[in-house]
Amino acid sequence: LTLQKTLIETNNELSNMTRQLQKNNSELQKLNDIKNQFLGMAAHDLRNPIGAIIAYSDFVMDEAKSLTDEQKEFLSIIKNSSNYMLKLLDDLLDFSKIEAGKLGLDLSRCDYVNFVKRVVKLNSAIAAKKHIQIILNVHEVIPELDFDSIKIEQVLNNILSNALKYSLRNTTVVVNMFMSGDFVTVEVRDQGVGIPKDKIDLIFQPFTRVSKQGTEGERSTGLGLAIVRRIVLGHRGRIWVESSEGEGSTFYFTLPVVAKE
Ligand code: ADP
Repeated sequence: LTLQKTLIETNNELSNMTRQLQKNNSELQKLNDIKNQFLGMAAHDLRNPIGAIIAYSDFVMDEAKSLTDEQKEFLSIIKNSSNYMLKLLDDLLDFSKIEAGKLGLDLSRCDYVNFVKRVVKLNSAIAAKKHIQIILNVHEVIPELDFDSIKIEQVLNNILSNALKYSLRNTTVVVNMFMSGDFVTVEVRDQGVGIPKDKIDLIFQPFTRVSKQGTEGERSTGLGLAIVRRIVLGHRGRIWVESSEGEGSTFYFTLPVVAKE
C-alpha cells in the first residue's frame, strides 16, 4: 500500500513538472517570436539607409575622373562594406521570416536540368575570376519537378558560392545530378579547404563559421547554410555534407519527384 501511495505521489509530481515545463516552453516560444520579430524589423529598416549609401557611392564612383587614387580606394571600401552589410541584413531578414514559420513556398513545375544549368552558368563567371572551372554532369533523365525556383536558386547559389569561396585558384568544382529513388540529388564537389570533423554537424546551424573569410578574403555571414537547410527541408528534401580537411567538401541536396505542399 505504501508503495502504491509513493507511486501515485511520484506520478502527481511528474505531472506537475510536465505542466511547468510546458509553461516554460510556451514562454520561451513567445520570447523567441518576439526576438524574431525584432530581428526582422531591424533588418528591414536598416536596408534603406544601406541602399542609399550604395547608390550614392556608385554615383560618386561614376565621377571617378576627378578623384585621387586614395579617394577611389576609400570609396571602394565603403561599397564593399555596404554590400556585405546588405547581404547580412538580407540573410537576417530571410532567417527571421523562416524562423517565424513564414517560408512561404511558391511551387511551380520546372525543367530542373535547365534550371541547374542556368545557375551553374551564372556562377561560372564568378568562378573564372579565381580560375576555377565548374563542370556539370547530368547522369540520368531527370523529370520535371515542382519547386520554388527563387528559393532553390538561393540554395544552389549558396552552395556553389561557398564551393568557390572556400576553394583555391586553378581547381575544379563538379556538379553531378542523378536520381536517388523518388528524389533527385544535386551534388556539388569542391577541392577546397574542407571542413574540420568537429564542425561538420554545426555548419547548418546559424552563425557557424569555421573561418571568417574565404580563401581570397571573401566575406561570410554564417547564415547561408542555416537558411538553405530550412528551404530544402521545406521542400521535403534532405541536405548533408561530406568533407575532409585540406581535400575538399561535397554538399548534397535532394528534392522529391512528387512534391507535397
Ligand atoms: P558563410 O559562408 O556566409 O559563412 P554558410 O552558412 O554558407 O555561411 O557556411 C557556414 C560555414 O561553413 C562557412 O563559414 C564555412 O566555414 C563552412 N563551409 C561552407 N561551405 C564550405 C565549403 N564548400 N568548403 C569549406 N567550408 C565550407
